Amino acid sequence: MARTCLVMADLRGGKVRNVTYEALAAARRLAEGGEVSVALVGDGVSGFAQGLGAYGADKVYVVEDTGLKHYTPDAYASVMERLIRTADPDVVLFAHSAIGRDLAPKLAARFGAGQVSDVVDVGLEDGKIVFTRPIYAGKAFTKVTISDGKVFATVRPNNLSADEPDAGRSATVETVGAGLSGASLRTVVKEVVQKATSGVDLTEAKIIVSGGRGVKSAEGFKPLYELAEVLGAAVGASRAACDAGYCDYSMQIGQTGKVVTPDLYIACGISGAIQHLAGMSNSKVIVAINKDPEAPILKVANYGIVGDLFEVVPMLTEELKKVLA
Ligand code: FAD
Repeated sequence: MARTCLVMADLRGGKVRNVTYEALAAARRLAEGGEVSVALVGDGVSGFAQGLGAYGADKVYVVEDTGLKHYTPDAYASVMERLIRTADPDVVLFAHSAIGRDLAPKLAARFGAGQVSDVVDVGLEDGKIVFTRPIYAGKAFTKVTISDGKVFATVRPNNLSADEPDAGRSATVETVGAGLSGASLRTVVKEVVQKATSGVDLTEAKIIVSGGRGVKSAEGFKPLYELAEVLGAAVGASRAACDAGYCDYSMQIGQTGKVVTPDLYIACGISGAIQHLAGMSNSKVIVAINKDPEAPILKVANYGIVGDLFEVVPMLTEELKKVLA
């Protein structure tokens, strides 16, 4: 049964995030030949429209306005609500990012529709949409079958495969007015102050080097940054490392931090508490460096190195420099 799907493009730092292409591929599977469209919302974003066509969009709705330069719940929810009322898609997909997590339930409520969060797989069974999502802090997965009606879902980055771009494919582009009125906008973002980070987005990183309390100080993170640089990796942390002030909370991975699914996760001086595992246990390959052979992280790791991270990490960095040079 053909159905129509709308994906909201997830933009950050002047780029379309990869999760948008992953959601587009999922939308094409669910559409079963129906139209797949993308909502491209922001200020100065129209240049991304044709690229989205190459990744599988049939149509791109471009909504540009200076009032959409920075995300605000009022403005974005209002724009998306108008768009969804006009396009009337059966399925609306968002990235499971800060923006998607904020918008999807808000809009689902406005449409009296169902909403599924943190989807890691999509499929069709007996003609019905089936979303797979983690439960019990990632210890198990559940399948949610959509019987009928409009549905909203957020898609976890790095779990679904994006289609290869086809440069010969293009999308119809439709420019839509934002229809924003000053009175309806309760929030105005005047300035965004960016925190200094390693530059690689944790939730989309293919490799993450992560530090815990065992790193012992902010200075102790230095060898982790050096290893990350050689690997082109992002640097993450446990909550204990953040609480101790060794690093910024934006680096926290886990139940109350970021959920990540890299190809390679290198845990340094992290014990492997359940709340940390909730954020990283679905990584494809886990390497744990810990001086305690009984540390729980070694039970979930594919490769465990029992040793002092201050010896092991610099050794790894030096060896990898030789291999990757
Ligand atoms: P520890 O448990 O203290 O482990 C440090 C490890 O380092 C030990 O295994 C030790 O053997 C090893 N080590 C020490 N020195 C060295 C060395 N030189 N070389 C090698 N290894 C060494 N935690 C999160 O991470 N993310 C969350 O989102 C999160 N949310 C939480 C939510 C709630 C409601 C609660 C109650 C807790 C949450 N926690 C979270 C905290 C969690 O329970 C743990 O306390 C935390 O993950 C422990 O961090 P850690 O592994 O870095 O520290």
